[in-house]
Amino acid sequence: MRTDTAKPVRLKDYRVPDYLIGKADLDVKLHPSATRVGVRLAIRPNPRGCPNAALVLDGDGLTAKRIALDGQVLDLQKTAAWNGFITPDALTLNAPPQRPFILEVETEIDPSANTQLMGLYRSGSAYCTQCEAEGFRRITYFLDRPDVLSVYTVRLEAEIGEAPLLLSNGNKIASGKIGGTTRHFAIWHDPYPKPCYLFALVGGGLGSIFGDFTTRSGRKVKLGIHVEHGKEPQAAYAMDALKRAMKWDERVYGREYDLDIFNIVAVSHFNMGAMENKGLNIFNDKYVLASPATATDTDYAHIEAVIAHEYFHNWTGNRITCRDWFQLCLKEGLTVFRDHAFSADMRSAPVRRIGDVRTLRAQQFSEDAGPLAHNVRPETYMEINNFYTSTVYEKGAEIIRMLKVLIGDDAFYKGMDLYFARYDGTAATIEDFIACFADIAGRDLTQFSRWYSQAGTPLLEVASSYDADAQTFTLDLAQSCKPTPGQDKKEPFVIPIALGLVAPGAGDIPLRTGGDAGASGAELASGIIELSSPRRRITFRDVPCRPVPSLLRGFSAPVRLDYAASEADLLTLIAHDSDSFNRWQAAQTYATRLLQRSVASIRAGEAPYRDKDFLAALGTVIDTNADPAFVAQVIGLPGEADIAREIGEDVDPDAIHRAHDALAEDIGKERQETLLAAYWRLAPEEPYSPDAGPAGRRALRNAALAFVAAGDKAEGAALAMRQFESTSTMTDKFAALCVLTRITGQEREDALQAFYAAYENEPLVIDKWFALQAAIPEHGTLARVRALMQHKAFSCKNPNRLRALAGSFAAANPTQFNAGDGSGYDFIAGLVLDLDVKNPQVAARLLSAFKSWWILEPQRRSLAGAALQRVACAASLSADVKDIAERSLAH
Ligand SMILES: [Zn+2]
Repeated sequence: MRTDTAKPVRLKDYRVPDYLIGKADLDVKLHPSATRVGVRLAIRPNPRGCPNAALVLDGDGLTAKRIALDGQVLDLQKTAAWNGFITPDALTLNAPPQRPFILEVETEIDPSANTQLMGLYRSGSAYCTQCEAEGFRRITYFLDRPDVLSVYTVRLEAEIGEAPLLLSNGNKIASGKIGGTTRHFAIWHDPYPKPCYLFALVGGGLGSIFGDFTTRSGRKVKLGIHVEHGKEPQAAYAMDALKRAMKWDERVYGREYDLDIFNIVAVSHFNMGAMENKGLNIFNDKYVLASPATATDTDYAHIEAVIAHEYFHNWTGNRITCRDWFQLCLKEGLTVFRDHAFSADMRSAPVRRIGDVRTLRAQQFSEDAGPLAHNVRPETYMEINNFYTSTVYEKGAEIIRMLKVLIGDDAFYKGMDLYFARYDGTAATIEDFIACFADIAGRDLTQFSRWYSQAGTPLLEVASSYDADAQTFTLDLAQSCKPTPGQDKKEPFVIPIALGLVAPGAGDIPLRTGGDAGASGAELASGIIELSSPRRRITFRDVPCRPVPSLLRGFSAPVRLDYAASEADLLTLIAHDSDSFNRWQAAQTYATRLLQRSVASIRAGEAPYRDKDFLAALGTVIDTNADPAFVAQVIGLPGEADIAREIGEDVDPDAIHRAHDALAEDIGKERQETLLAAYWRLAPEEPYSPDAGPAGRRALRNAALAFVAAGDKAEGAALAMRQFESTSTMTDKFAALCVLTRITGQEREDALQAFYAAYENEPLVIDKWFALQAAIPEHGTLARVRALMQHKAFSCKNPNRLRALAGSFAAANPTQFNAGDGSGYDFIAGLVLDLDVKNPQVAARLLSAFKSWWILEPQRRSLAGAALQRVACAASLSADVKDIAERSLAH
């Protein structure tokens, strides 16, 4: 384990590598505790690098068994004789040949002892790897940096009984039994040069399903998905999603798959979601396995999105990779943008957009407002594993989306083509990428690029005035951005504001301007106003009545909007805006205001605030014939964390929870009839289909059920129990169980027990069972979580299980994680310290639950700070946890 002796890595210190590795031939003899890894590296000095520099290959906890230079074996005991140095963390040649040479190294590693799940490790009985960001150095000594691209040939050898399936990147070129033994081998060759973080191997006894795909140009590709034996039928949806993703990338981006085979392996022990290794994606099995009886509609949607995301990386990430890890958003932001667009095409675009923005705000906005705020392209890091964040991924995707909005679809796709043409087979930077669009659009994107270099969520303030005599409507736009760690002053961003003027009952008013406070013809035609200065005034002419401005349609920029719309204006937008996103947004804004007022009342010792108009508007929406998935979003209240973020200081999570409950209860009571009518109207269709239409009906039906239960516990419990007992699909069963767990009593415990008994052998369902209990917003939950950690089904070694229990408690239970006595903070801090020894990456992720501690009321803030301090001061912390603890505390 690397500890805190590491120095910060800085973007400005980037230097090209002094040596390149053209070819890497691996020979891996798999063994549970003593795997032998032989590598033969064809190394040459980089003509652009520093001549006569030392060659330093990265390692991490390695033991070299044999080293040979151009065939000559070097004495490992007498390193001075060959002017070198070997430690577990580096292999150094101080005076390597200044011509192409061959370096052979043999190491021995213990995959069974690898609890970090980085490098080569075991998931159940299978061998698998995870090398991004810096895991390859735990397998062998190498130039472990993304700008060193090599052609790999990998020979794998194992006992046939232990690992009948042997996979690596690229195409299989040979395989067979090894005569006279119980062993076999397979040789894989990947013709595409790649950085070592994309290396992968898998060995094990897995069940497989196969499919075929013929690319546009006629290449026949064999598709394989490999899962635990017996789970093969649960991989069918992932296979279908993969084929759709392959077709979509050809149709929309003109990108074809480039090998003869594409494999996906699902493993149960995985730190992240999935990994795009060239030709051999390795997945957390929760993003592969699904059946109607074990997966919810949300699970299906995630599988579709993650399968597509990893596949899309083949071009955006693998064929063109990142020059260094500061450019992580180059592959991640772009690929998230691509998978969002894919999901929008497969499902309802407005509903997808609402879901994406909910996620962005919940995760990225809160990160951007707290101590862990960082640029989409960071300029320094202590531990790169801590930068796989929603800022790099989700905000990175929003930047690409804004770029497309600003330059238009045509220029965007031409810019993408240019990017693929210019940089295919290389390691690129954000500047390289942006230059393609600047060249195509003939536009200077320097200021736009500030989105990559300035952290924080900009605030967009808008004021309006209407002159009835002159029939003009004026908007005053202003932008600002609060300081973030290390950045006190912010320069103006380029903010695209998609805009409409809604005349109540009469649709959109055509946009016309002129004179000093005008908009350009292009802005009027597209409805996209650009704000690139601190302030801008625009006056619209020929406006016959006072309109309601519909601002940031489709959420055209990741900013916080401050516009004092009246309640009547919001009701107009809910009912009439032609932009679905802003209909939803108006309802959210209204609900957020109500909840904020209620929180203030509750803290003043008064009753929660009530508003009949809002309840009536929601009732009308439920009664419309609109897409049920959309209606479910409109009536879905903002989360408690969203309200906390809006309040922004002196936050009391208990008051927020009470306000939230009170509003849900109000809706349930006042609209019970409408909600029940919707519940019965939307009765499930058979057979189950995970498609957007039926999934949307279930979403609305289950939202109605939850509101009914909030308004009338007895009625809700009876309905939920009936649904729980009668349905066989996980979406409906789990939704019913969620409702039941919010009602204290024996019924809840019985339902939880019945659920466990029914799904005991389905680990992904049992994760849900753990997660649900950890999120119960009541006093006894911490004791329940502690007890569940002793449950026979719990294991700290499985990241999914740990995230389900401890992760849900920290991230999805605001009142108990933030309990007024500090017990929640102490629990998570203690767990982080225990876990750090085994799996620092997962421990650091868990600790980032403290990302919003600054905004809490003073007592909780001091308790949270003390818990963080306890972590930061602990002896022998990993670099991962130390980095999160120290950045969280720096204020
Ligand atoms: Zn990715």
